[in-house]
Amino acid sequence: MNHYPEAILKLINSLSTLPGIGKKTAERLALHILHAPDHEAAALAGDIIELKSSVKLCSSCFALSDKPKCRICTDPARDHSLICVVENPKDMAAIEKANVFSGTYHVLGGALSPIDGIGPDDIRLTELFNRADPKKVREIILATKTDVEGETTAAYILDRLKSRGLTITRIASGVPMGGDLQYVDPLTMQKAMEKRYGF
Ligand SMILES: [Zn+2]
Repeated sequence: MNHYPEAILKLINSLSTLPGIGKKTAERLALHILHAPDHEAAALAGDIIELKSSVKLCSSCFALSDKPKCRICTDPARDHSLICVVENPKDMAAIEKANVFSGTYHVLGGALSPIDGIGPDDIRLTELFNRADPKKVREIILATKTDVEGETTAAYILDRLKSRGLTITRIASGVPMGGDLQYVDPLTMQKAMEKRYGF
C-alpha cells in the first residue's frame, strides 16, 4: 500500500479505525472517495464535521439530540410520567423502532460493571434519581440489557428507588438472556414491553 500518495494513506488509516473496517476495506473506500465527484466527497466530509458539531446530548434524558432538549422530551404527545431506562442510544433506537412505547427515556451511558471499574458515578444514575420524582413520574421501566452488567444496574436502580412509591418494572420475556436490545426484532420488543413485570 506504500506506493499510494500520502493523502490516500492518511485516509486509509483514518477509515481503518472505524468498527468493522479493515485495511483492505479502508483502501477500497478511500479509492472510491478519490474517484467520486468532488461534491460527493465534500458532502461526506461536511456530514462528518456537522455530526460532531451539531449532535449533542439532551439535557434531560441524554439521548442524542441537535437541540438542548430532544424530540421526545419536547413532544407533548409522549407520556412524560413514564421513563424507560436504557444503557445507550442504540438500545433506545431499537425500542423506538419497534413503536411500542410512548413515554420518555433515560440514557445511562453504560452499565454498572465492578470488574471494569464502572461504578454508580460513572453512568447517569444521579440524573435519573433526580428525575424520578413521584409527583411527576408514575413508572420507571428498566430496559437495561439482560446480561450481568444490565441486571446489576437494574437491581441497583430498583434498590435506590423502591422507597419512593413509584411503580418500577423490568422488561420481560422475549429479550434473550445476555441479549443485546438492538438485535431484538420489533415483535419480541413489543412482547417484552407489554409483559414487563413489577417488583
Ligand atoms: Zn430527551
